[in-house]
Amino acid sequence: MSYETNNIFAKILRGEIPTQRLYEDDFALAFPDIAPNAPTHVLVIPKGPYARYDDFIALASNAQIVGFFRAVRTVAAQLGASDYRLITNNGEGAGQSVQHFHAHILAGKKLGALLPND
Ligand code: AMP
Repeated sequence: MSYETNNIFAKILRGEIPTQRLYEDDFALAFPDIAPNAPTHVLVIPKGPYARYDDFIALASNAQIVGFFRAVRTVAAQLGASDYRLITNNGEGAGQSVQHFHAHILAGKKLGALLPND
């Protein structure tokens, strides 16, 4: 799917929207979710134009994919989270609201059911 270069996370990557840059390397940037769903709720995004997980896996190099997921692990460790939930919403039907691939790291309390009753 096409990538919209002015999405919120692209602006965060470019430094046009402020955030707390918790971790950054060649492959990824991590920052706190603005509306946390758990005591620890951090987003990790790749440094490339990938709208969703499907596109990331289809288009990114192996080095970028491995680098991104290693960064996720590094962030979780830096947060002191041994138990955590890792989520990505792939598409609007799955709940994706920002069209730049991102992984949610949720931790800091005993997490309940994967999906709320709705
Ligand atoms: P998703 O619904 O999976 O696309 O997740 C998008 C997440 O981005 C939501 O949990 C929002 O709270 C979060 N979010 C939106 N804008 C910002 C922002 N400026 N800084 C940090 N997190 C944001």
